[in-house]
Amino acid sequence: MSDTIDSLYEQIVSRSPGESEFHQALYEVLETLSPVLDKHPEYKEHKIIELLCEPERQIIFRVPWEDDNGGIHVNRGFRVGFNSAIGPYKGGLRFHPSVTLGTIKFLAFEQTFKNALTGLPIGSGKGGSDFDPKGKSDREIMRFCQSFMTQLYRYLGESTDVPAGDIGVGTREIGYLFGQYKRITQRYESGVITGKSPDWGGTWIRKKATGYGVVFFCEEMLKAVHDETIKGKTAVVSGSGNVATYAMEKLKVSGAKVIACSDSDGVIIDENGINVDTVIDLKEVRRVRISEYLTSHPTAKYIENGNIWEIPCDIALPCATQNELKEDDAKLLVKNGCIAVCEGANMPSTPEAISILQSNNVAFGPGKAANAGGVASSALEMQVNAMHSASYDYSEERLHEIMNHIHRACCQTAEEFGEPHNYVLGANIAGFRRVANAMLAFGLI
Ligand code: NDP
Repeated sequence: MSDTIDSLYEQIVSRSPGESEFHQALYEVLETLSPVLDKHPEYKEHKIIELLCEPERQIIFRVPWEDDNGGIHVNRGFRVGFNSAIGPYKGGLRFHPSVTLGTIKFLAFEQTFKNALTGLPIGSGKGGSDFDPKGKSDREIMRFCQSFMTQLYRYLGESTDVPAGDIGVGTREIGYLFGQYKRITQRYESGVITGKSPDWGGTWIRKKATGYGVVFFCEEMLKAVHDETIKGKTAVVSGSGNVATYAMEKLKVSGAKVIACSDSDGVIIDENGINVDTVIDLKEVRRVRISEYLTSHPTAKYIENGNIWEIPCDIALPCATQNELKEDDAKLLVKNGCIAVCEGANMPSTPEAISILQSNNVAFGPGKAANAGGVASSALEMQVNAMHSASYDYSEERLHEIMNHIHRACCQTAEEFGEPHNYVLGANIAGFRRVANAMLAFGLI
């Protein structure tokens, strides 16, 4: 990092103590921005970096709820609006016991660049709670969502802040959240939240968009870096949630064989190819552990607490959570001949892992570019809702075009700054420039 950037980083870190995930996300972006600051002194002059790294607003609130036995619980809710230079705050809600303000800030910060890369009019935000949905009854989930929205609703709006899903928040939770918003405000504002069911304002592509988008991006990246295609390759995909499931579905359609997936308890290996319908039944319908895959596929193997990155593969898609792919895992992937890693999750690879992959000619697609398909389709959902239209025909082709646009933007920017195929640098600078230019134009000081 240059001295200027280095001292900026130190300043920001000292103002946000204990937020290690935010510091990591910040570092990963700032270390690539020196060349663009050299080229555009106006960004430095107007303190664009300082503005861009400070959230516009951060809301923290109490979420009390009652379990089925009448016991009272208290969780903490968060919503960070990071940047609204190019549109309303936009980003998902995460319900997971590990969630802290630092987690939400890192996710909202990443979202700034991701949303800008889509070329669509969406600013950045993220929210969530340290609530653990695992093992909760449907009624408990409903009561929690209602209490969460009872606090959050006053900060939301189609032109202000539009949440969606993330870890632990799918169509069911979005339904309960929207229902409570509607109940309190007495307004049917479909565009106030995305990831809705296609039956009441959602688009059918949203559920699949992040996973499909990762595979579209990966296909383009393989072509550009290795002159290869997905067809005939073996792949491993970590996680078995929304992103992982539909990445596996699209990998299969594209001719790859997915031989492993996981959840936080263990890894399933199926040399015949993971059966995605089984994963959907286990995770979306029955909401049970991935180990149950063995019941219908007895020839598969389950490794409790296993490391999915030990399994030899051509393509690896980390689609579970942050920092799940570490330096040693990257070394294993390289040793076993992996040629591409594309991030479905947000910040799943540590900086050390990224450096190992990049220096060993493994094509590396960072999450802020590769997993932008979800938020892009959310922006399309907002457009449909704004028109009060019942036509949800935003298609897979439109998603494909957007992912190709993002891939091109990353590639061209990396070339422009003399680092061809450095998708990390390309994504950071391309996203940064769009937001920075809007901030300059608005005189946001
Ligand atoms: P889901 O809740 O649907 O699935 C998450 C998956 O990851 C589950 O298999 C879960 O296992 C596993 N997982 C979660 N936390 C951990 C952990 N601490 N250690 C190990 N495994 C874990 O979430 P999504 O699929 O929606 O999100 C996955 C990732 O993709 C996240 O990083 C999210 O921010 C990112 N993302 C999601 C988008 C979307 O559209 N949903 C858009 C862009 C990015 P278990 O069930 O055992 O907890």
